[in-house]
Amino acid sequence: MRFVLLVLTLSALSFGQNPAAPAPAAPKREFPYLPGSKWRLHDPSRPLPTRVNPGTESSQEKPGRAPSDAIVLFDGANLDQWVTITKGVAGPAKWKVENGYMEVVPGAGSLESKLKFGTAQYHVEWAAPDEIKGSDQGRGNSGFYLMHEYEVQVLDNWDNKTYADGWAGAIYNHQPPLVDACRKPGEWQTYDIVFEAPVFEGDKLVKPPYVTVIYNGVVIHNHLRINGRYNTGGTYLVQGKEAPILLQNHSGDRVRFRNIWVRPLKDYDE
Ligand code: MG
Repeated sequence: MRFVLLVLTLSALSFGQNPAAPAPAAPKREFPYLPGSKWRLHDPSRPLPTRVNPGTESSQEKPGRAPSDAIVLFDGANLDQWVTITKGVAGPAKWKVENGYMEVVPGAGSLESKLKFGTAQYHVEWAAPDEIKGSDQGRGNSGFYLMHEYEVQVLDNWDNKTYADGWAGAIYNHQPPLVDACRKPGEWQTYDIVFEAPVFEGDKLVKPPYVTVIYNGVVIHNHLRINGRYNTGGTYLVQGKEAPILLQNHSGDRVRFRNIWVRPLKDYDE
């Protein structure tokens, strides 16, 4: 019996776990680098996303609130962010502002944003006049020009036919929308746009512009390559990285706009 106890004691001393000792460290797992990147998968040193308050959606009755990092160009109060260019000289914007929207005034020219933008997310809401006048391109025509040169067409296409590449949401004179998602005149309509600015080296285009457009929640352009500025067959204006937005005054059609904001987008950090 004494021998058995001795063996049991030695066994406990030799092979037993010491509860105070730390658990052996698991071998550190090194995740591989992503192809062409300085970051590994799940890299703990990679910067975390910046927090943005996403704002609120619009309704027919009320415009929503822009995301917290957006540059607001029109919130219904005034036209301080806009000018009208006459013979190359910037003057005050003279469109009507009331009830939270701006409205085209015949003879008051188009509007240009004071600030310049390029690669960015753009949000704009518009409404065609509820008093229906004209037809084809002569009904509720305006336009939202990216970098001053690429027109996302604004037109009252409700029960109003026109040529395909002049349709509401068309990249004018270039590409019709994938589908027709228009609402009735007088109703608020929305463009959410992601635009990638063209890149020039000297006079040479090295990267064309691309655009994605969501019209009233419906994708109508999906990373479309834009083959030239409006009203041209494949030529570009050599520009820097940014240029003003233009809101078109087309023959005085009394189109309304509200809730215009932009979020410039950085290149990915690779
Ligand atoms: Mg137009």
